[in-house]
Amino acid sequence: MTIAVSIENLEYVYPDGTRALDRVSLNISEGELVVILGPNGAGKSTLLLHLNGILTGGGTVRIFGKDIRDKKRSELVREVGIVFQNPDDQLFMPTIFDDVAFGPLNMNLSEDEVKERVRNALRDVNMEEFTDRCPHHLSFGEKKKASIATILSINPCIIALDEPTTNLDPMSRRELIKIIKKLRSGGKTIIIATHDIEAIADIADRIYILNKRIIASGTPKEILLDFELLKNANLEVPTITILFEVLSHLGYNPENPPLSLDEAINHLTKTIETEGGHIHLHIHEHSHEEIERVKKKYNHHL
Ligand code: ADP
Repeated sequence: MTIAVSIENLEYVYPDGTRALDRVSLNISEGELVVILGPNGAGKSTLLLHLNGILTGGGTVRIFGKDIRDKKRSELVREVGIVFQNPDDQLFMPTIFDDVAFGPLNMNLSEDEVKERVRNALRDVNMEEFTDRCPHHLSFGEKKKASIATILSINPCIIALDEPTTNLDPMSRRELIKIIKKLRSGGKTIIIATHDIEAIADIADRIYILNKRIIASGTPKEILLDFELLKNANLEVPTITILFEVLSHLGYNPENPPLSLDEAINHLTKTIETEGGHIHLHIHEHSHEEIERVKKKYNHHL
C-alpha cells in the first residue's frame, strides 16, 4: 500500500509562544479517508497547513515518500489541496469561473484545458450554473462548494478539508458529505479535520484523535464507541449510539451499536425481518433506573 502522507514528530509553536502541535506522527495511505478529530483549538488547522508547506514546524512531513522541504511549491500544490474552513479565504476573484480557473491557469495549461477543468470541477460540486456569479453574493453553503471546486480544478491526489460541515444547514451538510464520498470513491486520498462526529461516523476509514498530540487512532467503531476516550478529549458520542444504549435497556441488543442513522436503519430493518415483522421492546423493573444512568453518563453532552 502506498503511503500518501507520512508525518513524523511534527512540532509547531506560534510566534506568540502558543504550542499548537506536540510530536505528532501519523500515516495516511493512498485512497484512504482519514479524519483528524479534535475539539476547538486542538491544532487541526495548524496540522493541515503543514501538508503543503504553508506552515513549517519541527519534524518531517512526507508526501508520497518525499520530504516536502525537498519539493518545489508547484509540485506540492498539485499533490495536496487544502480546503480552508472559511471559504472567504479561498475565493477572491470577481467570478466563480476566475476562482476555479486560478489554479489551472497557474499550471500553464491551454485555455481549452482550463475551461474543461473548471467545468468538471463545478460539475463535481453541483454548481455548473454558477460560473459567472460573484463569489461574495453566494450563500455560505454555495461558497463552501465553490471553494472545493477551486481545489478540484487543480486535480490533486490528496485533498484536506478543514471543518467542511461547520455552519452548514442540514441539506447543504448532506450534500457536502455526498460530494466528499464521491471524491473518495473516485480514488482521492481525503483528510478531514473536524469535531463533527455525526458527519464523519459512516465515512471515515480511520480516525486520529488530536489534542496537540495524537491521543488515539483506530477505526470509527474503535474510536466512537470509546466513551471515556471521547469524553476526555471533549468530544461527543454519536446521538444514535446513545439512543441504542437506551434501547439496550428496553430489550434491544444489537451486537454492534450503530454509529450513524443509516447503520441504525439497517439494524432495525434486519431485526424486524429476522424476528417475523416485529421488534420486541419491554420495560423491566430496572429499566427506568438504567435509562436514568445512561442519561447521567452522557449528561455533559445532553
Ligand atoms: P483547531 O483547528 O483544532 O481549532 P488550531 O490549529 O486553529 O486548532 O489552533 C491550535 C492552537 O493554536 C490554539 O490554541 C489556537 O489558539 C492557536 N493558534 C492558532 N492560530 C494562531 C496564531 N496565528 N497565533 C497564535 N496562536 C494561534
